Amino acid sequence: MRVGIVGGGITGLAVHHYLQASGVKSVLFEAADEPGGVVRSAEIEGRVLDFGPQRTRLTPEVAGLVESLGLAEELREADDVPLYVYHHGTLRRVPQTPRAAVTTDLLSWRGKARVLLEPFTGPARDGETVEEFLTRKFGDEVARYYFGPLYGGIYGSRPGEMPMEYSLSRALDSAGIEGSVLTSVVRKFLNGREVPPITSFDDGLQRLPAALADAHEESVRLGTPVRAVRREGPGARFVLETPAGGTVADELVVTTPADVTAGLLCDLAPDSADALRTLNYNPQVVVHLHSEAGLTGAGYQIQYDEEFRTLGVTWNASLLDRDGVYTCFLAGSRSPEMVEWSDERLAAVAVEEFKEVTGHPARVLSVHRLERGMPAYDASWTALDGVSTPDGVHLCTNYTSRAGIPGRIREAKATAETLAERQTADVTPRCTP
Ligand SMILES: Cc1cc2nc3c(=O)[nH]c(=O)nc-3n(C[C@H](O)[C@H](O)[C@H](O)COP(=O)(O)OP(=O)(O)OC[C@H]3O[C@@H](n4cnc5c(N)ncnc54)[C@H](O)[C@@H]3O)c2cc1C
Repeated sequence: MRVGIVGGGITGLAVHHYLQASGVKSVLFEAADEPGGVVRSAEIEGRVLDFGPQRTRLTPEVAGLVESLGLAEELREADDVPLYVYHHGTLRRVPQTPRAAVTTDLLSWRGKARVLLEPFTGPARDGETVEEFLTRKFGDEVARYYFGPLYGGIYGSRPGEMPMEYSLSRALDSAGIEGSVLTSVVRKFLNGREVPPITSFDDGLQRLPAALADAHEESVRLGTPVRAVRREGPGARFVLETPAGGTVADELVVTTPADVTAGLLCDLAPDSADALRTLNYNPQVVVHLHSEAGLTGAGYQIQYDEEFRTLGVTWNASLLDRDGVYTCFLAGSRSPEMVEWSDERLAAVAVEEFKEVTGHPARVLSVHRLERGMPAYDASWTALDGVSTPDGVHLCTNYTSRAGIPGRIREAKATAETLAERQTADVTPRCTP
């Protein structure tokens, strides 16, 4: 059996790595000249900047990859530093322990007391949005000032536009939270459950996909976009068309963004392709600043009701010891038109709002646009109900599953295991009675 993988972001490369480790032949095609997809790092003025994700949790799967690629020495582990939400004119520390939840100035006493009713509320209801769910469970304040900016901020989406079914419900399921969220969180805290540390690499997060691509150099084709996929006769199930010619594969793993996947599947599964085409992505702008602010923390999210264009800022300087670097995220569903703005205008907004929130001046290091940033997980996700793939085609993507790097690597491993089992089943001699 031979597997064709489309896309050399972290997902495709991890699938390839696990397949090779289990003895399944695979070949990977990546359109860009470098591996990593949205995971991209570069050095500017001697400082390492990340243009997509800034960090990952060192979950057992991520740690396993780091170990097998010999990257342990290059890891940077973040200290346990506070996270903030900007709310009503000031940065307020996000409570991360039950004790801090009692003393936080992010919520009024009424808001804090309301949380205690959560165990008496029911699970997500049909058609409920993330905001409606959080408000019903925890009350208006916690929904708007605490969970809202933190959860919506990750995707650049408004929680009021995110259906539970396609977003938070999946996260709760995969965290094994079925009943009360509060009881489950407190129980985990009392049991002393360790949260994997936040990490990156000395040279930035792209080090991980780059090392994966290097490790499998002979079967990773960079700068080779797959233009079409078609079926061929018996024994040769799929042909992947690239500028370098056609490659035959028995199974196909597609990791590309939804619209690209739609184009690749338009002959094999036209209805699914139509559905995939309708999924929204949030455009994002990433502005790197340099500042002598010397702030200690992971960064902040800005609450949606505030009059700001900035969604949030990662304090790389403090979090990952990156000399004076602060990474601002702008646009998202709050102001998608910003991706059309000039670099100068984007830079000016980022600097001005950073000053207003932190009180510190900063200068711009880089401006980067992601036309297709995070999957929005908004109402367009109902279209996923109309997606089914033909036998032999596997979608392994951040819009059908979890978006974070740990989730991507976990899904990549599961996909590779499924394919390895299929190969074993194929080669196992069958007895005919
Ligand atoms: C701005 C931003 C910040 C984020 N922050 C974090 C964070 O801090 N922590 C975290 O854990 N996660 C974060 N995420 C999420 C995480 O980074 C992504 O979900 C994950 O990297 C997606 O990887 P992927 O391989 O699934 O997709 P992609 O990275 O999109 O890879 C798909 C690949 O397919 C290639 N491709 C496209 N068309 C073709 C074609 N025709 N033929 C061949 N190849 C093709 C593309 O070039 C690309 O390399 C962030 C994401 C974004 C956008």
